[in-house]
Amino acid sequence: AEVRELLLARIKDIPDYPKPGVVFKDITPLLADPLAFAALTDTLAGLAARYGATKIVGLEARGFILAAPVAVQAGVGFVPVRKAGKLPGATLAQAYELEYGTAEIEVHAEDLRPGDRVMVIDDVLATGGTAEASLSLIRRAGADVAGVAVLMELSFLTGRARLVEGLAGAPLEALLTI
Ligand code: 5GP
Repeated sequence: AEVRELLLARIKDIPDYPKPGVVFKDITPLLADPLAFAALTDTLAGLAARYGATKIVGLEARGFILAAPVAVQAGVGFVPVRKAGKLPGATLAQAYELEYGTAEIEVHAEDLRPGDRVMVIDDVLATGGTAEASLSLIRRAGADVAGVAVLMELSFLTGRARLVEGLAGAPLEALLTI
């Protein structure tokens, strides 16, 4: 509970960003506070241990910042899931629906293997589209989804419901629900 309050206090609401009517949750004050960032990393590394994760996937771009120190602390590899066109090697790609149009994410095919138990980390779960697509990539690589952890779940956007099928019983944990 104390950690939650510390984290919540370091997230800033930015009204009308990136467009009118949207309240953006800015995590840069949390990243700039070494105690808060360490508490977040510790909490997520504890989940990684509980999940028995053998790989940590971070979702571009803020997911990278949160996931990389967790992977180091948990003693497992970090795997970036990137927007299409950024990874130089052979990739698996997954398209998904946005509010308007579609997007595509990729992972290096050789980074995820059968037998891997993969934990997905991102800062915010909004509509769940990005996380859902990442779960498809993990399964298509032959690896197992160990769980998804996000700093914040925006519950009014129903991302959790969208993830039910992809999770197939694996946990989805949000440190903060908004
Ligand atoms: P989704 O695919 O769930 O709709 O969107 C999640 C992605 O959008 C995440 O990668 C997250 O970084 C980004 N995102 C959406 N809304 C916010 C927000 O209010 N704050 C931050 N920091 N990221 C957001």
